[in-house]
Amino acid sequence: MDKGKLLDIYAKMKDFNKIIVIVHKRPDGDCLGTAFGLKDIINTTWPKKKVQVAAESVGYLNFLGKADDIKDEDFDGALIISVDTASRNRIYDQRFDRGDMLIKIDHHIPVEDFGDIDYVDIGRPSCTLIIMDLLNEFSDKLKISPVGAKALYTGTLTDTGRFKYSGVDGDTFRSVASLYDNGLETKEIYSHLDVRTDQLTKYKGYFLQHYKKTPNGVAYINILPKHIKKFKVSLGEATSLVNELGYFDDCPIWILFAEYEGKIVRARMRSKGPAIDKLANKYDGGGHRLACGANLGTWKRSKLLLEEADLLAKQYKEES
Ligand code: AMP
Repeated sequence: MDKGKLLDIYAKMKDFNKIIVIVHKRPDGDCLGTAFGLKDIINTTWPKKKVQVAAESVGYLNFLGKADDIKDEDFDGALIISVDTASRNRIYDQRFDRGDMLIKIDHHIPVEDFGDIDYVDIGRPSCTLIIMDLLNEFSDKLKISPVGAKALYTGTLTDTGRFKYSGVDGDTFRSVASLYDNGLETKEIYSHLDVRTDQLTKYKGYFLQHYKKTPNGVAYINILPKHIKKFKVSLGEATSLVNELGYFDDCPIWILFAEYEGKIVRARMRSKGPAIDKLANKYDGGGHRLACGANLGTWKRSKLLLEEADLLAKQYKEES
C-alpha cells in the first residue's frame, strides 16, 4: 500500500467538485463494484459533489447502480478516475483525457501509465480492495453507506472467486470486516449472483459435454454465435461458465474462446499453475498472472494461442 499516493488521491477527491469514474470495456463485478463503491464514498462524504459513472450496463450487475449519460461538457473541469483498467485502449469512455486531471486506480499487471496519478497495487486481488485501503486509511474523514459497502463487497466476491484465489489474505478479510461495520447486507447480493435461467442451465449441459482437451493439458471450448442463438443465452452468460473447465487435475490451463460482434474472437484464459500473462500479452491481452483475457480477432489465431498454451502446460508438467 502506498500511503503517500493514497493521500494524493484523497486530496484530489476533496478538491474537485465534478468527478467522473470510468470503468473498462465489458465490465465485470469488480470493475462496477469499484466504480459504484467509490461513487458512494464520495457522495456520502461530500453530498454536494457531482459524481458520475461511465459504464456499459451488465444485466446481472444492475443492482449495483445505474451508469450516467455523460455529456462532453461534463468533462470540463472534472477529475477523471479510471478504475480496474491497465491500458488506455481498454477504458470504456475514450473521452477519459478530457478532464482537468486523470487518476488511474488498478490492480492488474501494469501495461502503461496514463494518469497524472497512477495507483497500481497488484498485491490486491480485487480493485475494490484498493478503494477499501483508501477508505481505511482515511477512516476519520471518508464515509460509506450500505449501498457502497454492497458494491465493494460484490466486486471483492466476484474477483476473488469468493475468497478463493491467490492474493486473498488477512487484509482482505479485515477490509471486508469494515464493510460489515458500515452496514453491509449480503442477502440481496447472493440473490443476484446465485441465479441461473432455464436457458443457461441447458446451455451449461451442452458446454459440459462439448469441451475439449489438448494433448498436454489445456481444457478449452469454442463458443459460436449459433450455440448462443440455439440456447437463447447471451454471450456474457455463456462466457461466465469459464471456470467450469477448471476442475481437471490433468489441465493446469483452461481457455474459453468466444466469437463476439463482427466475428471478433476473444479468449478468457485461466491457470492454476503456469503464468499465462505473457502469453496473453502476445495476443493483445493481459490481466493477472493466472487470469487473463486476450483479443485474438480470428479463429485462426485461437489455434495459435492454444498451441502455445499447450506448450506452457507441457513445460509446467515437466517441471513439477
Ligand atoms: P476475463 O476473462 O475477461 O475475466 O479477464 C480476466 C482478467 O484479464 C481481468 O482482470 C481482465 O480485466 C483482464 N483482461 C481481459 N481482457 C483483457 C485484455 N484484452 N487486455 C488486458 N487485460 C484483459
